[in-house]
Amino acid sequence: MTAAYDANNIFAKILRGDLPAHRIYEDDHSFAFMDIMPRGEGHCVVIPKASARNLLDIAAGDLATLIQTVQHVAKAALKAFDADGVTIEQFNEPAAGQSVYHLHFHIIPRFEGVALKP
Ligand code: ADP
Repeated sequence: MTAAYDANNIFAKILRGDLPAHRIYEDDHSFAFMDIMPRGEGHCVVIPKASARNLLDIAAGDLATLIQTVQHVAKAALKAFDADGVTIEQFNEPAAGQSVYHLHFHIIPRFEGVALKP
């Protein structure tokens, strides 16, 4: 069981334009921007415009659309940063490491021999 969506979360504020973000992609259903504390070069996040707390709290149709954006941004990041691979991470609830309660996928370009920051 997940808690209710809280519209005061940081990513909701970014979506509303109440907080700034380095936007890299946007369409009718999704938004992507650079992570403010990158764990590696090119670390960005993809979020739905729908109000979903996390993966457990999004309609299947919205998730299907969102994952296409995740793939699109992952491919673009790989190319833009000339990376060797890409890590995609997604956390649900505090016990799993979630700290911002609006669904997001981390997209982190990876380079041979380079570890991510903790
Ligand atoms: P964790 O903080 O453990 O990585 P999350 O998966 O909830 O858990 O990730 C939240 C992410 O949001 C973090 O990578 C953090 O750096 C990022 N973040 C927080 N505030 C902002 C912001 N204003 N703009 C961009 N990214 C942000």
